[in-house]
Amino acid sequence: MQIVLIEGDGIGPEVTQAACRVIEAVGLHVEWIKGMAGLPAVERYGEPLPEQTLEMIRRYRVALKGPCTTPVGRGFRSVNVRLRQGLELFASVRPVRSLPGIRTPYNNVDLIVVRENTEGLYAGLEHEVVAGVVESVRLITRAAAERIVRFAFDLARQYGRRKVTFCHKADVMRLSDGLFLQCARTVAEDYPFIEFEEKPIDTLCMELVLDPSAFDVLVMENLFGDVISDLTAGLVGGLGIAPGANYGQRYAIFEAVHGSAPDIAGKGIANPIAIIRSAALMLEYIGRRAEAQRIERAVLTVLQRGEGLTPDLGGNGTTATLTEQIIREL
Ligand code: NAD
Repeated sequence: MQIVLIEGDGIGPEVTQAACRVIEAVGLHVEWIKGMAGLPAVERYGEPLPEQTLEMIRRYRVALKGPCTTPVGRGFRSVNVRLRQGLELFASVRPVRSLPGIRTPYNNVDLIVVRENTEGLYAGLEHEVVAGVVESVRLITRAAAERIVRFAFDLARQYGRRKVTFCHKADVMRLSDGLFLQCARTVAEDYPFIEFEEKPIDTLCMELVLDPSAFDVLVMENLFGDVISDLTAGLVGGLGIAPGANYGQRYAIFEAVHGSAPDIAGKGIANPIAIIRSAALMLEYIGRRAEAQRIERAVLTVLQRGEGLTPDLGGNGTTATLTEQIIREL
């Protein structure tokens, strides 16, 4: 089995290696096709996302990806934004669930954040009008809006979810979110057996913090989804454990919600659980559900035991010792 591996930079190589070890240990032999992105690619090719890497993903269809630093102010566009747009990975999916052994204010969170990945303010349409005045375009199209809401409802149906909440700010952004909201309502009519709810994004933030158990599947545009993904990751224990996936019609890339964490890179203390759980989502996608479930169960057992966890989870373990424990549980 051939799968593209993008190690990324910062803590990327440390945590992706951990995920590869876990996949090997669950009994799957993967030939990793290594593609470069992020700072190592800037050094080698003079740009953070070389065309060769995009080509590899087009050829092999699926990639496991570590985080990539976007050098700020050097004229580079974010690797992630370019990957998502270049491969039409229109849906970002982040499952958020309370985990055993992790002390948080709530223990009953079980929701999925579905984020539109290709438009909104992250379309990258910015320009300087005159010196000192810049403008960013918030792009919303009917086609992309309907596509992401339909994706959210199909996901809800597939996983037995009962409610889809569409999040917006249509009272202020009357045209752009007005169109998105109209599209959401139209698509919702095709799924009368799943509850549909509309929620202004500011109200959603407050309600999520007061009672996250009230939510099931959340669907929203790009920037809102980016913010809500981190917020909900925080509700269940932080970025070190939050997995993610980006899906398109033809390709899929699996990556943790977190970034390259330069503050802890190279110290051997990055939490590998987020990328290991992302790898489990990848195995499920390619039809290896049994192996995916074994990995998720092993992670839960290790968390429940609560020994040797990495510092972000209050422990004094390392990336290596935590990975070892997970492998032993498989
Ligand atoms: P970050 O997610 O890298 O780090 C935020 C905080 O969370 C830091 O304190 C970090 O130490 C901690 N953290 C993150 N992942 C962790 C893990 N696995 N284990 C333990 N602690 C962890 O966010 P940032 O600092 O805002 O971004 C750093 C760089 O990463 C930026 O260049 C940004 O553009 C990039 N980034 C990339 C991606 C991606 O490639 N998917 C996503 C987000 C940010």
